[in-house]
Amino acid sequence: MHPLSPLLNAFDWQPRTRVIFGPDTLEQVGVLARDLGGCRALLVTDAGIVAAGHAGRACGFIAAAGLQVEVDDEVRENPTTRDVSRCVEIARQGNIDLIIGLGGGSSMDTAKACNFILTNGGEMKDYWGVGKATKAMLPLIAIPTTAGTGSECQSAALIADETTHQKMACLDPKAAARVAILDPLLTLSQPARVTAFTGIDALAHALETAATRKRTALSAAFSGEAFSLCFTSLLRVLDAPDDLDARARMQLGAAFAGAAIENSMLGAAHSAANPLTAHHGVVHGQAVGLMLPGVMRFNAGLPETAAQYTDLAASVGLGSVKELIARVEEVVAHAGLRAPLSSFGVTREAIPGLAEEAARQWTATFNPRTIAAGDFARIYEEAL
Ligand SMILES: [Zn+2]
Repeated sequence: MHPLSPLLNAFDWQPRTRVIFGPDTLEQVGVLARDLGGCRALLVTDAGIVAAGHAGRACGFIAAAGLQVEVDDEVRENPTTRDVSRCVEIARQGNIDLIIGLGGGSSMDTAKACNFILTNGGEMKDYWGVGKATKAMLPLIAIPTTAGTGSECQSAALIADETTHQKMACLDPKAAARVAILDPLLTLSQPARVTAFTGIDALAHALETAATRKRTALSAAFSGEAFSLCFTSLLRVLDAPDDLDARARMQLGAAFAGAAIENSMLGAAHSAANPLTAHHGVVHGQAVGLMLPGVMRFNAGLPETAAQYTDLAASVGLGSVKELIARVEEVVAHAGLRAPLSSFGVTREAIPGLAEEAARQWTATFNPRTIAAGDFARIYEEAL
């Protein structure tokens, strides 16, 4: 044994995703698909992206490169096994050999999930966990239109069971996109609420990944850059949604935070947020934004984590952890997402149940400071 300090956790990093960034890079999608050997592509997207014109443009570029293209444009928010089944059906009928996910996390996750079932058979729950797929998957191109989940830089598909609503995280290196196209022009069409929800989520990904038990020197590099990009541009995209520079910074921040998650997982703000989404319908980004300050205050009780927060604060010119947490609260408020949990119907009596569920979340195990149901209950009470 040669124990090193936690900051020197061992890692094994092989970039699986070619990342192409810049305005108008969507135009490359057809040629990239052809270069990956595709003849018949499936474009997985949603109605909003069709209405914004992005899906039609993508289909045009794909067809111009000589590929046939099938489209599934019915992906819903928080996609379930029903979305995956529909997508797989379209893929089978079209005998497709390449998949493109165009949209927010929901479209990219559905595209990944479709790839699991199409190539490895069975059902989504067979792949719940890490590395359960045995056969190779089809090449996937991920094209985010929001700056939030960072799914384009991750090998996980997050799919809920249609009947139980249990969210299943299916991780497999083979599911990672072969190419991610980051075209900031695509993010200009986000409705204001989506910008707020996804932007807060990206900021939370940067802050949570920076401190997890699994963090490495590599994930820290992604987390640090993601934090500074998101922190310095989130207010700007909220106030000036057409500022392409700010949009591009958010898009990079979200993608880098996604790469950080791939290497260091998430923490207790996500554990606390998930039961709020499942039982009270709080949108993921808002739930995370409401829980993050309390979780950061709790984590800052650990000197090592306080030191990391201090470094992050200093990187954006803030003097203390207290100031950093206060600014996070201000950003959530400025995004119009600050609200007491009681306004979502959360009662004092409901807290023990929520807290138990939060403590059972996978992400809680990666939180830097050991966190139990009683700690979650106090964090919920503070936010009630
Ligand atoms: Zn998140």
